[in-house]
This record gives sequence, C-alpha cells and structure tokens, in this order.
Amino acid sequence: MKKNFFLSVLPGDGIGPEVMREAYKILNILKKKCFLNLIINEYDIGGIAIDKHGIALPEKTLTGCKNSDAILLGSVGGPKWQFLPDVQQPERGALLPLRKYFNLFANIRPSILYKELSDLSPLRDDRLDSGIDILCVRELISGIYFGKSGCTFDHHNQKYAFDTELYYESEIERITHIAFKIALKRKKYVISIDKSNVLKSSKLWRKTVDKVSKKYPNVKVSHLYIDNAVMQIINNPSQFDVILCSNLFGDILSDACAMITGSIGMLASASLNEKGFGLYEPAGGSAPDIQGKNIANPIAQILSVALLLRYSMKLYDLSDAIYESVKNTLKKGYRTYDIRNNNQDYLTTQQMGDIISQNLIKEI
Ligand code: NAD
Repeated sequence: MKKNFFLSVLPGDGIGPEVMREAYKILNILKKKCFLNLIINEYDIGGIAIDKHGIALPEKTLTGCKNSDAILLGSVGGPKWQFLPDVQQPERGALLPLRKYFNLFANIRPSILYKELSDLSPLRDDRLDSGIDILCVRELISGIYFGKSGCTFDHHNQKYAFDTELYYESEIERITHIAFKIALKRKKYVISIDKSNVLKSSKLWRKTVDKVSKKYPNVKVSHLYIDNAVMQIINNPSQFDVILCSNLFGDILSDACAMITGSIGMLASASLNEKGFGLYEPAGGSAPDIQGKNIANPIAQILSVALLLRYSMKLYDLSDAIYESVKNTLKKGYRTYDIRNNNQDYLTTQQMGDIISQNLIKEI
C-alpha cells in the first residue's frame, strides 16, 4: 500500500484507552513490519471530551474524522455522565451524530465461536459441534430507532407512547447489496430477517430483498421471521452464515449471536457507508465495572483493526493474519479474566496484547 491511509483513533472512556493501547501494538507492527503508510491522529470523544472540551463530540474530533479514511473507536460513556440531559450524554451526543454524519448505514458484526472457548457458550455441546461463524449485517441509521415517536395523552387523558418503523425501499436495497456482496466472499448464503406476517415495513423489506437477490444468482437467500430466527439461532446456529436485518431486529439478533459465542470482549464491529468509509469498534461498551484494573479483554479492539484492514483497506491477508494470531493465542491456552475457566490463571490486558502481537509477527 503506497498511498497514505489516515486513521482517526478515538479511545474514549472506561476501558477504551486500556484496550486501545493494545490495538496500537498491532497498528505499530503493521507500520513497521508490513510498511503500511498509516497516519494516525488521536482525538477525544465521549465523557473525556465532555470533561476537557464541554461537549461529547468536539469540532476538532469531527474535523479530524472528516479528514481521515477511517475511524478506530474504543468506547464511550460511564456513570459520571449518566445524569446529563440525553442529547449531551456520551453515546447520544457523540456516537449517534458520528454514525449519522458519515451515513454509516451498514453495521457488520462477525460472531465466531473459537473451539477452545466453547465452554463459555450457554449452548449444549451438540449444538456447537458444527461451529458458529455468523456475520450479522444490520441496517444502522433508519428504521424504528429513527422514526417518529412520542409519549402523550389522548382525548380521554390516557397516556400513550408510540414509535414508528419507516423504511425507504432504497434504504433496504443498499443494505441488501452489502449483505450479498459479503456473502459472495463467504458461504454464499443470506438469511434475511423480518416480521412480514404482521408489519408493512417488513413486507417491503422481504420484497426488496428478493428483488435485489436476483442480481446475485450465486447467492442463496431465505427468509425467517424474527421470532423463529431467535429460536433457530439457539437451536441450530451453524445453519447461519450471513444474517441480514433491520436496525431493531439486528440489535436483538447480534446480541444473541454475541451471547452464544462467549464474551462480549471478543466481538468487533464495523459500520460502513456507501463509499467504504468505516468506523471500527468493539461490540461492548466502556465496562466501568472493570475500568483501571488491567483485566479488560483487548481482543475485540484488536479484531476491530482486522475489520479495518478488511473493509476499508482491502488487505484481506493481513486481516486474516490478525484473526489467526488471536486463534493461536487462544489455542495455546492464554486467557483474560472474562474468558478464563474457573480457577485458571489469566493474563492482564497488556500481557494479552503482547502475546497476540508476538503471534502476529510470526504470522506475517
Ligand atoms: P458494557 O459492554 O460496557 O459491559 C457489560 C459487561 O461486559 C460488563 O460486565 C463488562 O465488564 C463486560 N465487558 C465489556 N467489554 C469487556 C471487555 N473488553 N473485556 C471484558 N469484559 C468486558 O455495557 P454496559 O455496562 O451496559 O455499559 C457501560 C457503559 O458503556 C454505559 O455508559 C453505556 O452507555 C456505554 N456503552 C457504550 C458503547 C459504545 O461506546 N459503543 C456501547 C455500549 C454501551
């Protein structure tokens, strides 16, 4: 890669800066050993930005992100800022505007069951035998979370609340294309989730997915109602490869996928726009309960770098090399606190980052 690649790093709050330190080790290896021209600038976001600049998403941070090719985020939020008005809080005040500003409509979250960690899954062994490798593609900036909503009184003075799910056909089309393009590089199978037996928005969802699917004759498509999908994920997770969901259903299913594969500390996610600009972050939050203890699992943050290499930089081999080094680290029995067996010794955040880095150097 000859061209400079500008990366904005936003460590954020809680364990964010702790796990980001370990991601820096991986970025430095990529720069020094693989000669990637990564230009990295770091900015404040979330609670720390409120403390230092009075706002969760300072202008300097947004401008820095606008001038970059991708964003690597830690996490934001914590009890210190939870009593601020909603719109000023770290998540509402920083993450949602960032996603909206960059039009990050496609959220991609892989959930992989590492054989060595199958004890962490609440599922029975026979349900895990064929492995779990699911990639959830979730529409992120529309649907019920962004539709008209309210809480008010009717003419009998009865209090009521409502939310609206609104999807444009074009919004369904663009997320469906993302799912099918990803499926082409995997097992060529998309399962789309809806509730088309009840919801109008889901009827349009299913119709549009079927229409777009005709452009991908090599990819098989099927549809599941959300209620059945949750049962199927628990009963037979290996039948899933790419799951395509609306914002609401993706929120539910991606957490179910997280649960059956083990710890939230292992899961990374990518949020992309049409131009391939991406925000990469761990699936979990700022984990204030373990902040400052040096026990956070840095794997989700490290795998966020792997997703950055795959989706923004198209460096598939290097991305795979990071996944391999994580796999090898687990195979050798190294664990952090969240993924240890009962009385097993565990590594600190820093030690885990060091071992994965050493394995990566062997891998590349
Ligand atoms: P959380 O994901 O921070 O924590 C849930 C549980 O998972 C905790 O027990 C935590 O210790 C554990 N956990 C999370 N990441 C871990 C890791 N890397 N290693 C080991 N254990 C890990 O969710 P929460 O407690 O509901 O939220 C805490 C704060 O994070 C809140 O302020 C919330 O708003 C914020 N949050 C931010 C994001 C984000 O920045 N994208 C996402 C979710 C929550």
